[in-house]
Amino acid sequence: MRAFYHPDQALHDPQQYLRFGRVVAAKDLPERTARLLDALDRHGIRPEHPVECGLDPVLAVHAEGFVDFLRTAWDEWQTLPAERGPEVWPATFPYWSGRPDAGTRPPSRATGILGRLGWSLGDMSVPMGPDTWRSVLRSAETAVAGADALCGGEAAVFALCRPSGHHARTDRASGFCYLNNAAIAAQRLRERFARVAVLDVDVHHGDGTQQVFYGRDDVLTVSIHGNPADFYPFYTGFADERGHGAGGGANLNLPLPPGAAWPQFEPALATASTAIRDFGADALVVALGYDAHEADPIGILKLTSADFRRIGAAVRALGRPTLIVQEGGYAVEVIGDCLDAFLTGLRDG
Ligand code: ZN
Repeated sequence: MRAFYHPDQALHDPQQYLRFGRVVAAKDLPERTARLLDALDRHGIRPEHPVECGLDPVLAVHAEGFVDFLRTAWDEWQTLPAERGPEVWPATFPYWSGRPDAGTRPPSRATGILGRLGWSLGDMSVPMGPDTWRSVLRSAETAVAGADALCGGEAAVFALCRPSGHHARTDRASGFCYLNNAAIAAQRLRERFARVAVLDVDVHHGDGTQQVFYGRDDVLTVSIHGNPADFYPFYTGFADERGHGAGGGANLNLPLPPGAAWPQFEPALATASTAIRDFGADALVVALGYDAHEADPIGILKLTSADFRRIGAAVRALGRPTLIVQEGGYAVEVIGDCLDAFLTGLRDG
């Protein structure tokens, strides 16, 4: 199995985010990648560095002004008075209408860094430090390299993306995510495969991925996650969101109640698998998070490490060319075991 990762992805070292009204330590630790690399090593998988591919694959999904913001935010932040914080961090949150036909907004009319960052950073869990953009771009390039390998005939490829991507919308970062790696990869796969499905098993709804493809019938988006009624990302991820216009029926959300474990997860996964088969997907992107694990510090589900083998086996049973894109998972002590178990299920069933 081929895999991709660039060491620059570990440079992004967020310091803080806001949780329950307090500034707390960041959860997306650079150490996460070391644990996942160890798990790959146990399977004899040596990740290749992705080639630099320019911004075209990114701009096939994201708005140009948004990408330009991410690229320049750190330098612009330095122009603020010396009392500024250590990271680019927003304090304004513009209203979004929620119109699915207007998912990508016009560029911000505010031109200064303070106004632009409120427009582009959707919550307080996406601080940007001096190396964030470099890591974000390398993470996207890792997803693109994985997609290209799949287009080249590989049966299964792992893209060790960090930062994660599935909460990033066309024009907005949020939830530890800046560019939507899974969506960028799915879009890239469309160059070879007519119909692509995204299966997101991170404990949080893949709201960004849903938004990117919500009006399209060539990419099916399926997400199994904790019920967003009282869980991040809160405002989307409900079962009645089935797509818009031409994309009607091409989005499937399978929310699970807090505390749900494998007996609840398994039928949701079976429903997801049926939907992917019925859609006739020619290729599959798995947005793989481990934060549905019972040990996760911010998750609400109760999967065990061994359950990830069952997920891997279910993916294998789908029998599609498959790109695995790394998403969340913050219990550093178990995420390596989760990946190990998933890869075993993918290999052996
Ligand atoms: Zn997550």
